[in-house]
Amino acid sequence: MLDRPMPTPAAPLLDPFALAKALSGYHFIGGGYVPGRNGKNFAVVNPATGQQVAEAAEGDAADVEAAVQNAAKAQKEWAKLPARKRGALVHQCAALLKEHQEELAKLIALETGKALRTESRVEAGVVADIFEFFGGLGSELKGESVPFAPNVLSVTVREPLGVVGAIIPWNVPMLLMALKVAPALVAGNSVVVKSAEEAPLAVLRICELMNRILPPGVFNMLSGFGPECGAPLVSHPLVRKVTFTGSVETGKIVARAAAEKLVPVTLELGGKSPMIVFADCDFEKTVAGALTSMRFTRQGQSCTAASRIYVERPIFDRFVTAMKDAVNKMVMGDPLDEKTDIGTIVSEGQLQKVKAFIEEGTKTPGATAHVCSAMPSDPALKKGLFIQPVIFTGLTKESRLVREEIFGPVTVIAPFDDPESVLAEANDSEYGLAASLWTNNLKVGLDLAHRLEAGLVQINQNLVVQANLSYGGVKSSGLGKEASLEAMLEHFTHKKTIMVNMA
Ligand code: ADP
Repeated sequence: MLDRPMPTPAAPLLDPFALAKALSGYHFIGGGYVPGRNGKNFAVVNPATGQQVAEAAEGDAADVEAAVQNAAKAQKEWAKLPARKRGALVHQCAALLKEHQEELAKLIALETGKALRTESRVEAGVVADIFEFFGGLGSELKGESVPFAPNVLSVTVREPLGVVGAIIPWNVPMLLMALKVAPALVAGNSVVVKSAEEAPLAVLRICELMNRILPPGVFNMLSGFGPECGAPLVSHPLVRKVTFTGSVETGKIVARAAAEKLVPVTLELGGKSPMIVFADCDFEKTVAGALTSMRFTRQGQSCTAASRIYVERPIFDRFVTAMKDAVNKMVMGDPLDEKTDIGTIVSEGQLQKVKAFIEEGTKTPGATAHVCSAMPSDPALKKGLFIQPVIFTGLTKESRLVREEIFGPVTVIAPFDDPESVLAEANDSEYGLAASLWTNNLKVGLDLAHRLEAGLVQINQNLVVQANLSYGGVKSSGLGKEASLEAMLEHFTHKKTIMVNMA
């Protein structure tokens, strides 16, 4: 589709600094890069060095208007394509994104500070997988025939909703964008994405790459701040569905705005996910599982991070020691360096928020802060937003560190004595996104899995989002599901009933 000269090359560009510069200052609207209408840009900073690497267009209501109008026009033709053809095009996008996996991994590492080997490359791979998965689901957009009367044919058909407004955060921006864009497109909607202000580049590149395959206007990308660019997108009258991932507070603002015009909303919000470890677990596997569950390689910046770890008392001390030893072995450093396990926090604001939690925990009487891993020694990184992971013991359930989402490399470990008491503690949370149980007693494990208040419960593993498995929380963790066939059908289509009287 993109037959005009573009500031970015069609082939993978493995120098993330050059790619970041080339992407500077643009939205992607109606099949092409366009600068912001107000001419204002904001800085995109490499959190590992504090240096500016690009500028992003600071979108406002005028850009939203242009993007939504383009999307609305394109959607009408897009919806007329056979569903399998739409899916096939999305599938082609997946193949192209696979070719660009390394490029996208480096770019996301540069703008978010997430380590290339342990995090960014993985995210770029999963993104292609999500598009591939949904690309195969075109023919699943089926309706039903409904028994009504012998001489009346009564059927339901699935129809797209129209223009989808998608708002994404900075922690796994490519993946969270894919979870929204892929099902929305296959179902016949068009999409306008508002990227997160901290990480606008990799998603912009994905949008451009996909526009090499998709018809213009079907997939549009805006950068900008929440109130100036996200809010007008949510409230635009032609946006007929809003899908949002971010904080609980902003999620409520978005839901209220969507309620004003009565459009459906999907919300993926925060979490305070418990990890419950029984004494009969496979010890080494579970310690390793605690590191991945806590997403230490992502500096804990994950809504499913196991930020409350409950360990059965007989193995509590041994578990804390083993976990500390394991985290100590993780290498913190330049996100783009292959040796690095742990990169940076995304922004100065986020770093200060995490530090405030750590300070509060450290000052709490009875608490011990086990500070792990070493700060990087490279002088080039001295302005980087690095922070040492902290494992707290001795905090009680009244602590803010046990109750609130920190979104940093901070976890709290507490002992427990019996399944009922740990279940009560785990469920004593405003959140209900994910939980994991580690035990060889599947009778106890399954019983608790049924009674844990969470959208996703895993026993003896704690994987991140996977294609085909519904993902989404209960309580303040959100509304609706993502990543599955059910998510596409329930959240990106409506069912129309058609009746034919043949009497
Ligand atoms: P975080 O603390 O992770 O930045 P937010 O919920 O504030 O969480 O941000 C998630 C996304 O929501 C970002 O893309 C942000 O720009 C956007 N956003 C923030 N405020 C609003 C708003 N009032 N309306 C729409 N989107 C918003």
